[in-house]
Amino acid sequence: IKPSELVSASLERISATDERVKAFLSVHGDEALARAKQLDDVPADAGLLYGIPGALKDNMSTKGLPTTCASKILANYKSAYDATVVTKLNDLGAVTVGKTNMDEFAMGSSGENSGFFPTHNPWDLTRVPGGSSSGSAASVAAGQVLFSLGSDTGGSIRQPASYCGVVGLKPTYGLVSRFGLVAYASSLDQIGPFTQTVEDNAIVLQAIAGHDKLDSTSANLAIPDYLAALTGDIKGLRIGLPKEYFGEGMDAGVREQIADVIKTLERLGATVGEVSLPNSKYALASYYLLAPAEASSNLARFDGVRYGLRVEGENLIDMYKRTRAEGFGEEVQRRIMLGTYALSSGYYDAYYLRAQKVRTLIKQDFDQVFENYDVILSPTAPTTAFELGKKSDDPVTMYLNDIYTIPVNLAGIPAISVPCGLSNGLPVGVQFIGKAFDESTLLRVAHAFE
Ligand code: GLN
Repeated sequence: IKPSELVSASLERISATDERVKAFLSVHGDEALARAKQLDDVPADAGLLYGIPGALKDNMSTKGLPTTCASKILANYKSAYDATVVTKLNDLGAVTVGKTNMDEFAMGSSGENSGFFPTHNPWDLTRVPGGSSSGSAASVAAGQVLFSLGSDTGGSIRQPASYCGVVGLKPTYGLVSRFGLVAYASSLDQIGPFTQTVEDNAIVLQAIAGHDKLDSTSANLAIPDYLAALTGDIKGLRIGLPKEYFGEGMDAGVREQIADVIKTLERLGATVGEVSLPNSKYALASYYLLAPAEASSNLARFDGVRYGLRVEGENLIDMYKRTRAEGFGEEVQRRIMLGTYALSSGYYDAYYLRAQKVRTLIKQDFDQVFENYDVILSPTAPTTAFELGKKSDDPVTMYLNDIYTIPVNLAGIPAISVPCGLSNGLPVGVQFIGKAFDESTLLRVAHAFE
């Protein structure tokens, strides 16, 4: 099959399904097809991503194409350069067919905070796909593309992967360059792949990982061969089950599927033991200080002067106010207010500094467990995909969807969500959490039981 046939098939699938799924904010069919045709003369050394159609969350810069972050404030903005991940994929011959919907500026857990329209879960169109990488997860689940990239600040790859029944990986902080990713909370954000299988996930991770001098937080380490890690052998692997993650709030159906996974892993020769992450209970509180604080600073640049929307006012300050009031959605404004408050003098020590200290304790909890265990297992989310509109009036209930994913970002370590069965016809995801830069072990265990 030729790249142009593959890309045409992807575009046809998108036109047949996206009216209902609404995974894409923009589809660039002509550009994608033109590029695929150029690739049709396949060189002998073509890699595994050559000619493969993929999609990008709309917070990754793509030269000459829109990058809106699903925000009205960037509705007419086009990127001036490519993100490093985009350059890497292009160099390998992958073809971007479009930019996917998301919660505005990656703030949300359901996809409903998009400034344009919500994405629907392909398994049940009345339900949310999860978020914030809603369109990236849904596009892979709906068979519109073979892979997509999302970003994960507190769960935004893993949680929608879980709701949509696909594989989603959040790499170790620093493994994948953030250059060209529109920053939400810079110390937590990571780009990672969505795919149908663990093997595909390893291929995409291989393509995007690696040092980048354009990102000062990028790690300068040798990148292992991730496909070689998929041996199928997990004999002797030590798996920790954090007791704090198996308490109240988890659906019975989710609990059942996770119990099955544990049995399967034991059958495959892994050993399982209970562990404790005592400071996890503070993770949500600490995250919802740190992430909004960083966001309030990062989003200061959208002022009506530098990018996108401008709403004229009586004077400069009035123009700023009108632009930001009209351009930013409710959740984004809420985060900016929370973050600005937490950083203001007199409150900094009480909130931001304390939250940073809690973050260190959470990281130490993980370090301690990893002295005796290779991976930690938990559900990815406490429930399966919920109905559209069901939680959108209550931010705190919405925040709870990320209770199992947020500690991982605070610790900077990697985690993968893998589909592990259905509950009432809806996908359940299991999360494996690993040591920093040990994506290989995560992929190996995920592949072994998949
Ligand atoms: N739901 C979380 C938030 O709204 C996480 C989002 C993300 O990972 N980008 O902040």
